[in-house]
Amino acid sequence: MQPTTTRTYIKDAKAHLGQEISISGWVSIRRDQGKLIFMDFRDRTGYIQGVILPNATEAHEVGSKVRSEWVVKVTGKVNARPERNIQPDKQNGDIELEILSITVLNESETPVFDISQGIDTRNVGEDVRLEHRYLDLRSDRLQKNIRMRHKVTKLIRDLLDEQEFIEIETPILTKSTPEGARDYIVPSRLDRGLFYALPQSPQQYKQLLMTSGAERYFQVARCMRDEDTRGDRQPEFTQIDMEMSFVEQNDIMALNEKLLIEIVTKLYPEKRIQEIPFPRITYKDAIEKYSSDRPDVRENKEDPNLLAFCWVIDFPFFEKTDKGENGSTWTFTHNPFSGAKAEHEEWLMNAGKDAESDKKIGDILTSQYDITLNGYEIGGGSIRNHNPEKLLKVFEIMGYTRESVEQNFGHMLKAFRLGTPPHGGIAWGFDRLMMLLQNEPNIREVIAFPKTGEGRDLMMNSPAEVSGEQLRELGIQVKKLEK
Ligand code: ASP
Repeated sequence: MQPTTTRTYIKDAKAHLGQEISISGWVSIRRDQGKLIFMDFRDRTGYIQGVILPNATEAHEVGSKVRSEWVVKVTGKVNARPERNIQPDKQNGDIELEILSITVLNESETPVFDISQGIDTRNVGEDVRLEHRYLDLRSDRLQKNIRMRHKVTKLIRDLLDEQEFIEIETPILTKSTPEGARDYIVPSRLDRGLFYALPQSPQQYKQLLMTSGAERYFQVARCMRDEDTRGDRQPEFTQIDMEMSFVEQNDIMALNEKLLIEIVTKLYPEKRIQEIPFPRITYKDAIEKYSSDRPDVRENKEDPNLLAFCWVIDFPFFEKTDKGENGSTWTFTHNPFSGAKAEHEEWLMNAGKDAESDKKIGDILTSQYDITLNGYEIGGGSIRNHNPEKLLKVFEIMGYTRESVEQNFGHMLKAFRLGTPPHGGIAWGFDRLMMLLQNEPNIREVIAFPKTGEGRDLMMNSPAEVSGEQLRELGIQVKKLEK
């Protein structure tokens, strides 16, 4: 018998029945029965039980010191388990590693919470979990969430690539965009007193990529919004962001349906999509029937494997506000860059002409479409306005002067005067989608390093103070608020 010196993954142990192998990983559980010491080992591919027999003196000595979560390299012989010890529903339940030697690669203090096989850490206080996120991530459930998230992202990339999309990165240090949330801002050292903003979404860049001739763009895009956090919100989150040229609403909706159906059928075969094609409901009907613009249309809410996708369309473009620019009473409901529905473009362009035309503003519908899943909004997009006069009109209704639009969005207007094709897109709230696919109660469970509800990273301890020198360079003085 030739000993295997290279590392064998635990999932492959059975193929080496009767042979000596070497595995590397963590000790999940150790049961010291005096003469026999049992240990369960874990690597990224699974679990295997090992046993140290009384005659393996050296291994016995090391084995009596080793504890849970120590990192070890173990050499042993793969034996079939005696009939009475077989556990048919467990991985490697019919084999056992007869441990011949153990090398300790790293010791571990007693873990602050139990992450042994099958333990659901959702029962542990979340602050403790977040402070020791790397431990939490080692647990089975979070390993599965993170690995499935990778698989879904990979499938999306592959499918979009097949559809001739290209992935393009857009800047993180950018300029404030009007997405309706507060910006995170970053001070400039070279231009003291000036600030970058972190992107709330790549909206303007992706539209400018259409001007650039990309035609089919996507990005797994990190977005930052300084909002008060809620269960399904985080200060930073991930969008699957797309934009296409020369398309109509139906093209984008059909492509997105296809993607979502492929994800479910390929990676979640145990789940059932309630209705294909996905039903479409107008905003008005959604409010009337479900009192919500993200209706939960599930026919059975008890079924954890039922996925009820639904499109919501025909949203009003504008809504009343008491905080409008220059005293305007209007703001946008979704996205100021959206186009009005074709049949309402005349109403849009006539706004401001006379009181009669102004009455129509609230009736103008946008080309926006949102997609919901089991009562959560998981995405939204629109056909955009690629005509500079129409975009100016939208901002005019919201009280912006021509000069202020030119100043803030001059680059968009300029681009729209330089051969921008008609275009539209969508962005998915990827964390929410993953949360629902993984049957998790909140998005923190599917994000590797999430922040608390108060926006803190308890593991890195951020936000944190910076040195006086850093502040001096930026020309910033911090006034401590009196308590
Ligand atoms: N940028 C939009 C958002 O973040 C999505 C889109 O219209 O493509 O909601």
